[in-house]
Amino acid sequence: MASLDPRQFRDLDPGERLLMGPGPSNVPPRVLQALAAPCIGHLDPGFLSVMNETQQLLRHLFQTENALTIPVSGTGSAGMEACFVNLVEPGDEVLVAVNGIFGTRMADIVGRLGGRLIRVDAAWGRAVDPAAVAEALRGRSPRVVAVVHAETSTGACTPLADIARLSREAGALLLVDCVTSLGGMEVPVDALGVDAAYSGTQKCLSCPPGLAPLTFSSAAVARLEARRHPVVSWYLDLGMVRDYWGNERKYHHTAPVNMIWALREALRLIAEEGLAARFARHRLHHRALVAGLEAMGLEMLVPESERLPMLNAVRIPEGIEDAKIRRALLREFGIEIGAGLGPLAGKIWRIGLMGHSCRSQNVLLVLAALTTLLRAEGFRLRGDGLAAAQAVYAAC
Ligand SMILES: *Cc1c(COP(=O)(O)O)cnc(C)c1O
Repeated sequence: MASLDPRQFRDLDPGERLLMGPGPSNVPPRVLQALAAPCIGHLDPGFLSVMNETQQLLRHLFQTENALTIPVSGTGSAGMEACFVNLVEPGDEVLVAVNGIFGTRMADIVGRLGGRLIRVDAAWGRAVDPAAVAEALRGRSPRVVAVVHAETSTGACTPLADIARLSREAGALLLVDCVTSLGGMEVPVDALGVDAAYSGTQKCLSCPPGLAPLTFSSAAVARLEARRHPVVSWYLDLGMVRDYWGNERKYHHTAPVNMIWALREALRLIAEEGLAARFARHRLHHRALVAGLEAMGLEMLVPESERLPMLNAVRIPEGIEDAKIRRALLREFGIEIGAGLGPLAGKIWRIGLMGHSCRSQNVLLVLAALTTLLRAEGFRLRGDGLAAAQAVYAAC
C-alpha cells in the first residue's frame, strides 16, 4: 500500500458563505449546535421521544393530522422517490405536471416504475394551468396527479386549490412536491386535500441537507396497503419504515440520529417564530429584493402573480457574463446565488431567500454587490436598487 501522510489533510475550514441560491440555505447556530449533540442509539428511549416530538412538529408545519408524517432518510429527491415508489404500481396511470427540472424528474421516476405517464407541460417560468390539467384528465382516472408547488428551477409557484379539486373529482391521489415551499409559505396539506407531500431540510427549513419530511393521508396509506406488488425499493418502503416510526419501533434502518436532532431544532425555531410571521417575512424580503432588482433595470423571469417569495429568478442582462458575476459574488462578497438550469442556463440567476437566509441585511448586500459588479461590467443601471429596497422596508 502507498503510504499516506495524514498531515496533508488540513483541519476542515469551509469558511463562511451567504447562501442565497436554490439551497442549501444558511443554518442557524442553534441547529448546528443540535447537530453536534451526542449520538445515541436509534432505539434509545431518549431518541424515541425525540422522534415523537419531531413528528408532532412536522405535522404542525404541514398543517396536517396525518399519522404517517416522518422525515425520510435522504435528501428531497429521496422524498420524491418514496412517494412514487409507494403509490405507483406497474401499469398505473400517473399525471405529472411539468414546468421545470423537478417536474421532469417526477416524470422520469414514473417511467422507471413502469407507470403510464400522462404529461402536462407548461412553459418554464410559468405556473401550471389548471385548465390544461382538466383537459388531460377528461375521461380519465389516473392513480396519481403529481405537481411541484414551488418550482425551484424557475421561481414559479403553482397554486394547488384548483388542481386538488380536479384530482379529487378524477378519483386520483394528489402528490405534491413542496421541497422549496414548506417553511416559507402556506402548505396546508389537510385543508387542500393533499394525499402525499414531501420536502427537504435544506431549503426553507434551514437545516443541513439529508432528510426529506414526508406526509401521507389515510387514502395514500390505504393505497399503500392495497398494493398488488411489493414496493420496488426496500429502503423507501413506507410500510416497513412506518413500523419503526410508529408504535412498534421495529428496526428497519438506522435513523440518522444527529440529523434528527438538527431537524427537531430547526422545526422548534419555526414554531417559535410562528408560521404566519415566517411566511410574512418571506413575502416582505421578496418584495424588497424584487423592488431593488427592478429599480436597477433588471427583469424578473416569472410574471408577478406567479412568483415564489423564496426563489427569485432574474434575467441576466444582455452582454453580461453569467459565470463571471457569480464567481465574483462568491469571491468578493462571499455570496452564493444559483445559475439557470436546462433551457434557462446562462439566461437567469436564481436568488434564494430561504428560511434563515431570508433577512434584510442579505437583501441589501446582494443588491449592493450586484450594483458594484454590474456597473464594473459596463451595465447601465436604471436606478438605485438599494434605495428601492429600503423604501419597501421603510413602508412596512
Ligand atoms: C431541491 C429540490 C428537490 C430535490 O431535493 P434534493 O435535496 O436536491 O434531493 C426536489 N424538488 C424541488 C422543488 C427542489 O427544490
